[in-house]
Amino acid sequence: MGGTFDADLLIVGGGPAGATVAAEVASRGARVIVLEKRTADAPSRAGVIQPRVLELLDARGLMGRFREAARNWRPDFEIPVYFYAGMTGLRYFEMDTAHPYALILPQTTTEHLLRDWAVESGANIRRGAAYESHEQDSHGVTVRGLDAQGEPFILRGRYLVGADGAHSLVRKTAGVPFEGRGAELTAVSVDAVLSWPYSTPVHLARNENGWVLAYPFGEQTTRFIIVAEATRHVPVDVAPTMEDVRASLRAILGEDFGVTEHRWLSRYSDAHRLTPYFVDGRVSLVGEATRVHYPASGMGMNYCIQDAFNLGWKLAFVIAGDAPQRLIKTYDTERHPIIRDFMDDVAAQCALHFDFSPGGLALKRFFEEEILPTPAVNAILRDRVSGFGTTYHHPADPHPADGGRVREFDLGATTYNEVAARSDFVLVERAGAAPADRVLSGRIARVLATVNEFPGNIADATAVLIRPDAYIARAWVGSPSDAEIAQVYRSVTAQDAGIEAVAQ
Ligand SMILES: Cc1cc2nc3c(=O)[nH]c(=O)nc-3n(C[C@H](O)[C@H](O)[C@H](O)COP(=O)(O)OP(=O)(O)OC[C@H]3O[C@@H](n4cnc5c(N)ncnc54)[C@H](O)[C@@H]3O)c2cc1C
Repeated sequence: MGGTFDADLLIVGGGPAGATVAAEVASRGARVIVLEKRTADAPSRAGVIQPRVLELLDARGLMGRFREAARNWRPDFEIPVYFYAGMTGLRYFEMDTAHPYALILPQTTTEHLLRDWAVESGANIRRGAAYESHEQDSHGVTVRGLDAQGEPFILRGRYLVGADGAHSLVRKTAGVPFEGRGAELTAVSVDAVLSWPYSTPVHLARNENGWVLAYPFGEQTTRFIIVAEATRHVPVDVAPTMEDVRASLRAILGEDFGVTEHRWLSRYSDAHRLTPYFVDGRVSLVGEATRVHYPASGMGMNYCIQDAFNLGWKLAFVIAGDAPQRLIKTYDTERHPIIRDFMDDVAAQCALHFDFSPGGLALKRFFEEEILPTPAVNAILRDRVSGFGTTYHHPADPHPADGGRVREFDLGATTYNEVAARSDFVLVERAGAAPADRVLSGRIARVLATVNEFPGNIADATAVLIRPDAYIARAWVGSPSDAEIAQVYRSVTAQDAGIEAVAQ
């Protein structure tokens, strides 16, 4: 079935992952329709944006609006020392980045800002439109659903993205397995109104009765995240009450802070499942449509947005005819191992975090006081939580920075972020070492840097080809030939035969 298309790309779900894919694809000229069944905001689950996502947003020129929204939310919106497995001590302020902090922002605001960006980029977001099913053929995908008035609709797109969250219907319709285990413990999150002012910015406590994290979350509201030993085996579908909350707070903190009413009260679990693949022909799954896990250390949404940055430019290139369809499959081959490691990390954090036995508490004390402060350990764990550890490096890559992240850096007359915000691939060359002219093909912007200092991982490089998602395609020490640059570009955009064999 060929015919006309209503859109190049249909996206189900306008949450953080769906909105980011929409912006990344629409800003490159494709016609994008997002189906979002909600007409009102969901309560904010995520409360922080991690440094790597801040860098990616900055590379799109969006940091000004995110920082302003965070400042309006609360004046101390930067967290310079972050958490791991419920313990504090990750020294974000030591990281080599323009954003050495986690940014506190309710997920609702993050979603608004990402959807605004998608709409400004040209995406059409249809609120109240619920996806029901799809079929794909060799030319495109047909989607059926119900609009805001409950009327059936049919849309035809060349590609479909399921960004419809942990209960993804796109995943179920596509028959993609969801492998793993069900819940072993549950926790309670409450945005509570207190009967007296509570001024401590962030409060952490743990003992044999459980663990609590408390921090101000909006006007007169404090968010408590509670794992209580006495109630951690209550099934996730049993609604918690404020009396449960007060009892847990008294057991763990010794007082209930005068908690009266709540703005949001929810029980969630550590169910742990992942799809074995993310791409099925013309249908890709992104964000929590591919997984469910305990929301450890405020990482979940951030990894979803990083998925979206990896997938977005690839879909756009394929839709524009600038790369073969197999480029989309490299989203799968690159992100699946990263997400598998991330899920292992979440499981490890839970094992450490939720053992409230005397031995478990002693281990945590030892870990927090002796292990976590060790510089090398602190750096490894920071890399995991912040997202800086993500790399698409291949053992055969010649430079150690190949596949790694690039951070904002000065180029002399301009900056990397300024160029990245209006470009796809960016070739940065040191002005003194660069040939006067180059013959470049493909979507590459070339910039000559007139400064000596490059970031640490590429400090020795003479030329760097940077992917649209701000990862290094190749760094060269010595000036590469036009043919070498073209070869790397072809490889990263899946246009050479070697990649074809891997990606099919
Ligand atoms: C208690 C809790 C605390 C958390 N805290 C953090 C944190 O601090 N930091 C962090 O990074 N992450 C956190 N997370 C995780 C974070 O909330 C998720 O990772 C994130 O929301 C996933 O984004 P997504 O876009 O993949 O899916 P979702 O946010 O679930 O978005 C999916 C969208 O698809 C829409 N949709 C679903 N079905 C359909 C359909 N049939 N038709 C049309 N639209 C549909 C939904 O309405 C929704 O808008 C937390 C999660 C929980 C439960």
